[in-house]
Amino acid sequence: MELLMSDTGTAKNTQSSASPKYKRVLLKVSGEALMGDQAYGHDQVIMERICSEIKTVVAMGVEVCLVVGGGNIYRGMSGAAQGMERASADYMGMLATVLNALALQNQLEKIGVDTRVLSAIQMVEICEPYIRRRATRHLEHGRVVIFAAGTGLPFFTTDTTAALRATEMGCDAMLKGTQVDGVYDSDPQKNKDAKRFEELSYHRVLADDLRVMDASAISLARENKIPILVFSIHTTGAFAEVVQGKGRYTIIKD
Ligand code: UDP
Repeated sequence: MELLMSDTGTAKNTQSSASPKYKRVLLKVSGEALMGDQAYGHDQVIMERICSEIKTVVAMGVEVCLVVGGGNIYRGMSGAAQGMERASADYMGMLATVLNALALQNQLEKIGVDTRVLSAIQMVEICEPYIRRRATRHLEHGRVVIFAAGTGLPFFTTDTTAALRATEMGCDAMLKGTQVDGVYDSDPQKNKDAKRFEELSYHRVLADDLRVMDASAISLARENKIPILVFSIHTTGAFAEVVQGKGRYTIIKD
């Protein structure tokens, strides 16, 4: 795999020997994934690793959309649990996703990956507003598009945002990077007998309440026939393998 630097200093794709199965994907990274063992914020080592994995996938000629959560900084539900009005708490959560989006953008650009942050809540001094056609154009130019501020609406999550943007962008697959290497019938970090699935239907995920993503995200993906691939964000090289249909992941489809 090689990257050529353009005269603007940004990474241009040269096709690597890898053969991606998907042309355009959306990667959902939770806020929690960015904080490592810390109680809050970003773990720089993890940020560097995730971004270098994204760079590898871009260099394979895959168009990459990114949706990042905000749970490492703020979650609306926690604010609401402490007595805050839920909608206000959710707006704070959405702002947390913007912080993460800017942090990822900074790290990606540091290693020569061209990016744009598009926010569902306008803040034109720091990023572009989300405009679907503009986002598509950026992807066609090989830029990683980072969708910030979730859907821009309270009472939603960044999982639903991921399904929505994957649909709007016509992604071939949605990849969810999690703490473990797929979907299990119970938490494998708590239950050593937890059963791992190779493949699941959307219906089964919903019927068995498998909690890999919230129900509205699963329903949206099902309606639009977008497969969901769940893999470990902490396994080095996993993102690149999964986009080639290799490695360990659970696929959710019909
Ligand atoms: N959020 C929201 N609407 C959205 C997306 C996110 O209100 O469309 C808020 C919500 O409060 C949520 C927070 O942003 O708790 C952070 O997102 P999320 O919990 O999905 O992040 P993750 O768990 O993936 O880190």
